[in-house]
Amino acid sequence: MNAALGEIGLLDGFERALINNRLHMVYQPKVSLDDGALMRVEALVRWDDPQHGSIAPSRFVPLAERHGLIDSLTQWGLRTTLRQWLSWRTAGLDTCLAFNISALSLQHLDFPDLVERMCRGLDVPTDRLVLELTEGATQPLVKLMDTLTRFRIKGIGLAIDDFGTGYSSLMQLRQLPFTEVKIDRFFIADATHNRDSRVIVKAIIDLAHGLGLTATAEGVETIEQLALMRELGADVGQGYLFAQPLEPSDLIPWAARHTRRWKMLVNPPAESTMRRRLEGAALA
Ligand code: C2E
Ligand code: CA
Ligand code: CA
Repeated sequence: MNAALGEIGLLDGFERALINNRLHMVYQPKVSLDDGALMRVEALVRWDDPQHGSIAPSRFVPLAERHGLIDSLTQWGLRTTLRQWLSWRTAGLDTCLAFNISALSLQHLDFPDLVERMCRGLDVPTDRLVLELTEGATQPLVKLMDTLTRFRIKGIGLAIDDFGTGYSSLMQLRQLPFTEVKIDRFFIADATHNRDSRVIVKAIIDLAHGLGLTATAEGVETIEQLALMRELGADVGQGYLFAQPLEPSDLIPWAARHTRRWKMLVNPPAESTMRRRLEGAALA
């Protein structure tokens, strides 16, 4: 896509997309590795520009952070996601939500009150919401202790994202009131063929459990990775093996198919062509 589109052009396009409601959210299921049950869905923002095509959030979220638009993006995304939860509930699916929050949005001490008001306003119980946070170079999460504690008091869960890479540290796990650790997908991809990564994944899972936290494996793409994560004791899995990020109307039909498919994922056919077909089925 459009690497040539410069910062100013991108910023201008993004601002217009935000104002004109041309962003949208997709939702990726997170499933129990015990029985395959849908635990929650992670909301991920998408921007499909009519001129420049699809632009990755890894490009425009940092742009929004740099140019003072991140709070508007966060509030738009959260409102959209909470409204979506209501329409799923009306259709008979009562799930939980995971929502990515930029550490910049957490710098306002009144942000937890705003999130709580948004939940109340739309009648979404706060315990259905988990916020996913990533440690950044310039935004140490430890400085946000007060804000994070306020979220927990309100019943909102907190996950540390991309754990094991970048800036995340063991100190944060001890000091901050997290409820979930998401193990970075680099380790999940590596662990089936690299003993060191396997040792690291096992250590993170045990550490999470020792601290009373849920251990989630991100980026599960193959039957072998699923089997290993179950063996190592991870609680929750997320990745293309189960589902790509889905359009809202696809979630309920996915859930019905997934219940049947789970049994085959955990007891896969021995024959390799059948296994590959099964792995590809979630992408169809
Ligand atoms: P993340 O929070 O770590 O989200 C997971 C990313 O991994 C998503 O990319 C998802 O599509 C992708 N993914 C999921 N399963 C697999 C898999 O099995 N294999 C591989 N290779 N990738 C997988 P996406 O949607 O491009 O998002 C990238 C990042 O942008 C996110 O990483 C998150 O940090 C940020 N982001 C996305 N939506 C939002 C948002 O609404 N607000 C904020 N602040 N950040 C967002
Ligand atoms: Ca995330
Ligand atoms: Ca992640």
